[in-house]
Order: sequence, then structure tokens, then C-alpha cells
Amino acid sequence: MINEAFFASKKNILIIGYGATGKSVYSFLKNNGHNVSVYDDFKANIPQRLKSNRLSDIDLAVKSPSIPCMPHNSHSIIKDLGVAKIPVISAFDVFMLHNPEARIVGITGTNGKSTTAALTYHIMKDSGADVQLGGNIGIPYFDLPKAEIYIFEMSSYELASSRYLKFEIGCILNIEPDHLTFHGDFGNYVDAKHRLFENAQTKILSLEDSLTSEKYGFSEDVIKVSAKHSPQADVYVFERAMIGSTKTPILDLSDVPALIGQHNYQNIAFAYSICRRCGIPDHLIVRSIRSFRPLPHRLNIVKKVGNVLFVNDSKATNPESAAKALATFVGFKIFWLVGGRSKNVNVMNSIGEYLTSVQKIYLFGESAEEFTQTFDGIKSTVDCKTMLSAIHLAYKDAVEESGSVVVLLSPMCSSFDQFDSFEHRGDEFTKAVEMIV
Ligand code: ADP
Repeated sequence: MINEAFFASKKNILIIGYGATGKSVYSFLKNNGHNVSVYDDFKANIPQRLKSNRLSDIDLAVKSPSIPCMPHNSHSIIKDLGVAKIPVISAFDVFMLHNPEARIVGITGTNGKSTTAALTYHIMKDSGADVQLGGNIGIPYFDLPKAEIYIFEMSSYELASSRYLKFEIGCILNIEPDHLTFHGDFGNYVDAKHRLFENAQTKILSLEDSLTSEKYGFSEDVIKVSAKHSPQADVYVFERAMIGSTKTPILDLSDVPALIGQHNYQNIAFAYSICRRCGIPDHLIVRSIRSFRPLPHRLNIVKKVGNVLFVNDSKATNPESAAKALATFVGFKIFWLVGGRSKNVNVMNSIGEYLTSVQKIYLFGESAEEFTQTFDGIKSTVDCKTMLSAIHLAYKDAVEESGSVVVLLSPMCSSFDQFDSFEHRGDEFTKAVEMIV
């Protein structure tokens, strides 16, 4: 068992994975006087690279979130550390062990984590709170200044890798099949998400997420949220009005231009619930929700050319999030750009009911063949190979249409076959669209 006292004397610590998280923990532990070495499969040029015969000297290993650690796919170094009985913890654990009294809001879910975390941060900051935002949203824990309260976006990878989870407020937005290669199966993925609640003082859950509400709905200090008309929830939506803690309408959700689409009702209701729990009054929360600016690559309107709207939803890396985008544009004629590295899940379960508005599907990247078969006999598809050619073919068809028309990049896949990241993919989409006149 590792505790705060463990770090009081100089230790030999191994960092596994030298990405943003690994680099940040490396500097932190080094600056705290420890002897730190690094293991990484791909980067040869790293400080203190581990010599393979030195594993026995290691007292503790700190693993980056994406290093596989489940029984079915454990990385060989994780197995070796297991055999040598060397504890492996996460960067979050290191943060927790150094900041045991920190007030942390942990936000997880398959979709909506970043939006909810960023919105919560925005509201708290506006209200004058001493707050920082980090974790999976891109800012490593140790790169943050000290604060009274931290909002951390928690990925399922980080949750599965952590042993010292403790949250003042824990939120689980939703759970849909995703990241199954890492977790092995849906059950393990759900377990990872539920770990957020194991040691959370206040738990905020969605009534639409039956897996979580059935398990935790009756525990102490639970706040129930619904994006539908569910008066049994503490916060819910009735005819586009968010009904808050006083059981009265407090916000017209159709009047928040930065957060379009019904899925954002859920994100807003969670952010509201967190901030309310922290004591921020309704009128300040509502004012800040209205002034929130959307995060890039999430249903962002890039441009309108004639009657054709171009929308960048590059962050929709799974079918559930793409379904929300399709639902947002019901009533439009949708020319839909889909592609990338497949998540190997049943896409029809999520998107089946929203296909009516889709005119044609423009495929690109390594999943094109899979989706050609998926939509065979259901929707017309074309394999465009690249996103750039998908944009041009879609626009060529869209411009012939009258009424409300959208060329929608909501790719249902990760980006790593053709791009560095979803941000890179979204930026390339935006650049190409901006050149259309
Ligand atoms: P995450 O950080 O969990 O990936 P984001 O806020 O970055 O979530 O949004 C990712 C994608 O999911 C976007 O395409 C967005 O439109 C969609 N989305 C956002 N919130 C939700 C939600 N509550 N439910 C389903 N999809 C959502």
C-alpha cells in the first residue's frame, strides 16, 4: 500500500508512457527529489530511459492512462512489474497522494465529459471560485496551479488504472459501449466508469443511465438528473425548460446558442447540479451558462454557403455521439461524413432511428469497407478514401438541394488512421470548408 509517507524519502520511480501525462508526472517527481526513470515503447529520445535489467530497483511505477493493463491485454512491462510485485499506480493517484485534502469534482461518461467539465469550470470561475480544470481534457494534473477546487475530466482508462480515487462530487453522465479494445468487454468498461462513485461524497447520475441509477440511485447523497420530463429527478427538463432545485423553471434551454442539441441538456443539467451543490445561486449559474463559448470540434457551425451549413463534430468518435448530432439536425437534409478507425460496435443500435434525414453517407479512412456493408440496402454510400474528397463530394450533392441542408462531419470513429487526433481532423475539415466560396 502506497501512502503519503511513501514519498517522504527518495524513491526509484518508473514512469510508463512519456506523453503529456508521463512528462508532467516525471517533472513533478524529479523536482520532488526522486530518482525517476521512463519506459516508452516508441520514444527513444527520452530522459533516464529505463535499462531493461533495472526493473528490480524500482519501488513504484506510474502508468499513463492508455497503457493497456487489463488481464486480456496487459502490456509486457505491466506483467513484469506484476511478477516483481512492484505497485503500479496512475498519475491521478500520485496527485491524490500528494493532495489528500483536495476538493475534486470528477466527471466521467462516454460522451459529454469535456463539455460538462468546461461548462462547470466556466460557471465556477465566473462566480469567483478558486478553481482549476484538468485531467483528460488535456491539462495534466501537475501542470495546474494550486487551487481550492479542481474539476477533473476522468477517462475510463484513468479510472481503470487508479487505486486512490476520492471525489467530493462524482458525476457519471452516461455509459454506452466504447473503448472495448482496452477494457475487453462492456462489463469491464461499466465497472471502470462506476469506480468514480466508489469513494465519492456526492454522486450525480442520470436517470437515463439505468445501469448507474439502478446501482447507485438509492445510496446516500445522490443527485438525480434527467434530460427529459422526469419529475422524480432533482433536476430535469420540461418543454425545453430546465427545472432546478426549487422545482421551478430556471433556464430556457433553447436559448443557449453555444450548446445546441438535446444532448447538451444533459451536460447543462449536470453542470448546474454540480455548481448548485457548491452553493452557487441559480441566477449566477444561469448567467454563466448563457455566456459559455463552445469547445471546438463539438457540433461547431463552421460556415454557411448558400443554404448549406457545414458542421464540425470531429469529436464524435463513437456512434452514440454521432447519433446526438443526427438528432440535432432532424428536419435538415443531412450529407454525412463518416470514417476513421472503427470502434467495432453495433452502430445501428445508436443511429438507426435517426437515419431518415440522412441523404447520403460519404465514407473515408480504414472503416470505409465496414460501413459500406453496414449501410448496404439502407442508405446510399460512397467510399471517398479521404476526408477532403468526402467534403467536396458531399458539397457537390448538397448544393443541388433546397431547404435546410447540412454537410456534417460526425465520424463515429477515432481519427488515428489518417490524422494525429480528433483536433487535427476537425482543423483539416475547417480549413477545407473555409476555402469553399
Ligand atoms: P467527451 O469529452 O466525453 O468525449 P465531449 O463533450 O467532448 O465529450 O463531446 C464529444 C462528442 O459527444 C461531441 O460530438 C458531442 O456533440 C457529443 N456529446 C456531447 N455531450 C453529449 C451527451 N451528453 N450525450 C451524448 N453525446 C454528447
